Amino acid sequence: MNIILLGPPGAGKGTQAAKLVASRNMIQLSTGDMLREARTSGTEMGQKVAAIMDAGELVTDEIVIGLIREKLEGNAGGGFIFDGFPRTLAQADALEKLLNDMGQSLTAAIELQVNDEVLVGRIVNRAKEAAANGQPVRADDNEESLKVRLMEYYKKTSPLLGYYYAKGQLRTVDGLAEINEVESAIARVLDNS
Ligand code: ADP
Repeated sequence: MNIILLGPPGAGKGTQAAKLVASRNMIQLSTGDMLREARTSGTEMGQKVAAIMDAGELVTDEIVIGLIREKLEGNAGGGFIFDGFPRTLAQADALEKLLNDMGQSLTAAIELQVNDEVLVGRIVNRAKEAAANGQPVRADDNEESLKVRLMEYYKKTSPLLGYYYAKGQLRTVDGLAEINEVESAIARVLDNS
């Protein structure tokens, strides 16, 4: 099974992906994590993406598609959770083609449905908790870039909801429910697919 977790920043994609990795042995492919790793690696690409990420804007399709392609090549068996990818229609098309080329397909695109007030609260909280525990606070977890991230989501990523709906692949779960309830709702989607 190969699934996409869709939803705005703070919707809980990373949390749920981690649970699926533990319970179903799936492979989490988070472009946000890959890009954060790239920026600390000191490569030219890393330097290029750092400023874009901190501002809350989207990195180019070319870069993220390249990162995903590399990861897919090493894992022919599938079982992927795409977390934070695709974020544009061009990325969605590229993903379909990459999966086809390896004889895989998409099982479902699962939308974690939330509302904006909750998102802002969650992200502000994530930054506060990190600071209180002496952990690094993500440079893009501040109010200014959060606004940009939300706008980028509505402009460029939310059209994917219509795209996967039209393909019959969209499944929606209530992302405002308790973490364990969201987990069960996702499990039901997977068990019925
Ligand atoms: P969020 O908490 O906003 O969901 P992520 O960790 O998924 O954060 O991504 C952080 C940043 O990395 C994004 O704001 C963007 O700059 C960049 N990024 C991650 N995935 C993509 C993608 N698929 N396309 C373009 N940019 C991306």
